[in-house]
Amino acid sequence: MDALVFLPTSIIVFGLGAAIGSFINVVVYRLPAGLSLLWPPSRCPKCLNQLKAYDNVPVFGWLWLKGKCRYCQTKISPRYPLVEAATGVIFLIVFWLFQFSFLTVGYWAFCSWLLALSLIDWDTMTLPGPLTKSGLVLGLCFQISLGYFTDPSWNSVVKYLIFGIGGVVLGLWLFDSISILGSIAFGKPVMGAGDAKLSAMMGAWLGWKYLLVAAFLACFFGAVVGGGAMMFSRHQMGQRMPFGPFLALGAVIAAFAGEAIVTSYLQLVLPVT
Ligand SMILES: [Zn+2]
Repeated sequence: MDALVFLPTSIIVFGLGAAIGSFINVVVYRLPAGLSLLWPPSRCPKCLNQLKAYDNVPVFGWLWLKGKCRYCQTKISPRYPLVEAATGVIFLIVFWLFQFSFLTVGYWAFCSWLLALSLIDWDTMTLPGPLTKSGLVLGLCFQISLGYFTDPSWNSVVKYLIFGIGGVVLGLWLFDSISILGSIAFGKPVMGAGDAKLSAMMGAWLGWKYLLVAAFLACFFGAVVGGGAMMFSRHQMGQRMPFGPFLALGAVIAAFAGEAIVTSYLQLVLPVT
């Protein structure tokens, strides 16, 4: 891409991501509480004063308010601007990887869903059904569109759709297997019912092959972090830990590096011919 196009486009993409990140903050805060996502507009949770439009600018709003409410000086968590900046960076990376293509838009949506679900799971130890279900439907739409863009024929569309549905089925089945393995390893159920829906949603987006990669990575990260937390006694033995963020991390790595991981794995286990 031309440098003249590259720089301004990157700034716009980061801004778009940060704005979506701002909405993700709203979803994470309001959805588990059963509040409307669209009304009322952003306001201070303490004094309920509505935010001014320029205080609402992603990342910068928090910076020039120095992390405090304009009216009552209540501290605003740095997590808000961090989520906005992180979403901006994720949008940039996806754009750099896939440039102006349908994949970019699709993976922006996938990553946004995963980020919102991870944060909610982190906060509340639940994965809301409306989010996992809508994400699953969106994933199947992604496969259908991908099939159409690859080759505009019924054949291709149906092939991609079946690929996605296969991922959904494996996601539900995998969840049971991981649950059983986790119960053996940790002596307690490690996954909730929401995790099954999340892995089904991931299957719709990734297909069965990369879903396997994602699940393996999630278990690996979960075991490392869970083991580390226990060692430093932040967590009691058997205390529940949200698994959603690990699944989401595995999903993102599998989506962007799945092919490389599968190839190097096959080279490891298969004799070189
Ligand atoms: Zn306030």
